[in-house]
Amino acid sequence: MGWGLLMAYTVVGQKASSKNPNIVLFFIDDLGYGDLSVTGALGYKTPNLDQMAAEGTRFTNFMAAQAVCSASRAALLTGCYPNRVGIPGALGPESLIGLNPKEETIAELLKAKGYATGIFGKWHLGSRPEFLPLQQGFDDYYGVPYSHDMWPLHPWQKQANYPALHWIQNNTPGKEIKTLEEVSELTPTITEKAIGFIKKNKNKPFFLYVPHPLPHVPLAASKRFIGKSEKGIFGDVLMELDWSVGEILGELKRQGLDKNTLVIFTSDNGPWLNYGDHAGSSGGFREGKGTSFEGGQREPTIMRWPGVIPAGRVSNQLLSTIDILPTLVKLTGARLPAEKIDGIEFVDLLKGDDAQNPRQEFLYYYRKNSLEAVRKGNWKLIFAHPGRSYEAFLPGKDGQPGPTSETHEFPKALYNLSRDPGERYNVLEQNPDIVAELEKIAEKAREDLGDDLQKKEGKNRRAPGVVERK
Ligand code: MG
Repeated sequence: MGWGLLMAYTVVGQKASSKNPNIVLFFIDDLGYGDLSVTGALGYKTPNLDQMAAEGTRFTNFMAAQAVCSASRAALLTGCYPNRVGIPGALGPESLIGLNPKEETIAELLKAKGYATGIFGKWHLGSRPEFLPLQQGFDDYYGVPYSHDMWPLHPWQKQANYPALHWIQNNTPGKEIKTLEEVSELTPTITEKAIGFIKKNKNKPFFLYVPHPLPHVPLAASKRFIGKSEKGIFGDVLMELDWSVGEILGELKRQGLDKNTLVIFTSDNGPWLNYGDHAGSSGGFREGKGTSFEGGQREPTIMRWPGVIPAGRVSNQLLSTIDILPTLVKLTGARLPAEKIDGIEFVDLLKGDDAQNPRQEFLYYYRKNSLEAVRKGNWKLIFAHPGRSYEAFLPGKDGQPGPTSETHEFPKALYNLSRDPGERYNVLEQNPDIVAELEKIAEKAREDLGDDLQKKEGKNRRAPGVVERK
C-alpha cells in the first residue's frame, strides 16, 4: 500500500472515530403511547415526529422505569431502577430530598468525555440548590424545578398551599410563573433556549436534554396553536410540542450537525385519564399514569441518527429508559458509573441488528417501592396490590366520572402480552411453570431492592440526597 493511500485511510478513519456524536434527548411529560399521529392519535397531527420516525426507528415496546415524574427521571439519568437510587415517587416543591449528588448521571459521564451538557425544561430531581442540574453534571440549565401543577394557581389543588413557581436559570430563580398565559410560554421558551445551546456548542460534542413540562396539566398553548386541533387544548399542546421537535431538528440541519446527532424522543409516564383537560391516550393499553399496567409505562419512542440507525424501521424488542445510559456510554466511549446500574446497552440493536434482544432477561415494575409486576419476554406477572385505577373511577356528580380510585384491589394475574397487550385475559391457572419462573425473578428483585407489598427491605438500595430544613 502506497504512503498516500495509507494517509487517506488514516484521515478518513480519524474523521469517523474522533468525532463523538451529539445527543439530543427529548423527555415529554405524561405523554401516552397513543398521543402521536404515528401511534394513532386522532384530532391533530404530529408531522415532525412522524417524519422523525420515518427517518429513524420507532420502538413499540419501550418502557419508562416507573409511571411517575421524579422516579422516572431518576431512572433515565442514572440507568437504575428509581428505588435503587432512593427516588421512588414524585418530589413535592418543598421536599428535603433530591437525587443524591453522588449518583453519576448521563450528563456527568458525558461531560467527563468532553461533552457540553445542557438541560432545558423540567428537572424534578430535587429543588434545593444542592440538587439542581448544575450539581449533576449540566453546564447550562433553564427551566422549571418541578411540575407546574404544584402551583398556587392550580385550579383544583389550592388547598395544598404550594409556594410560588419560578423559572430557574442555572442556580438562580428568575421570573415567577403566575398565569396560565405564562404557562403557555414554557414550550416556546424551552425551544428557544435549546436552539441557543446548539448554536453555542456547534463546534464540540454536546448532550442536550429537553424534558418539556407539557402535556402535564395545567395545559396551555401559545396563541398561534390555540384552537388549531380538533382535540381541544390537549391537541393544541401536542401540536406545539411537535413544532418544538421540528424547530430543534431543523437547527441541527442548519448547523450541518444532524448526520452526527443521535436524537431520542420518549416520555416519563403514560397519560392522565378522566382528569381535567388532559385528553391523552394510552393507545389502548390498560390504565395510565401512576400504574404499573402498560398504559402507565409503555412510551412512544423514536430514535434517529441518519446513516447509523435504520430509517423507517419499527422495533418490537423490550427496552427501557434505564437502558439509555449504558447505550450512550458505549456509543461515546464514556465510562460506566462506579456503582451498580440496572440498564443494558442496546447499541447493536439500535444500529440495525434485529436479531439482538438485549433485554430478554426481565423487567421489574415497581410503584414507589412496591413490586407490582415482573416481566420476562412477553409474560407479565402482576402481584395482588392496591393501586390507582382510572377504569374503577369513583362515582362523580351529575353522572360524570369522579376522581380516580387510588386504592383499587388488583388481583394476582398472568398476562401474555404477545396475544393480549391490553392485559385483559388472566392465564395464571393455565401456566404454572411460567408463574414459578416469574416468581423466582420477583424473589431476586425483593432481595435486591425490597418490596413494600411484602414488607421486605432489600440489600442494595442507595440513599437519596437529604438536606436539613432551612
Ligand atoms: Mg410525568
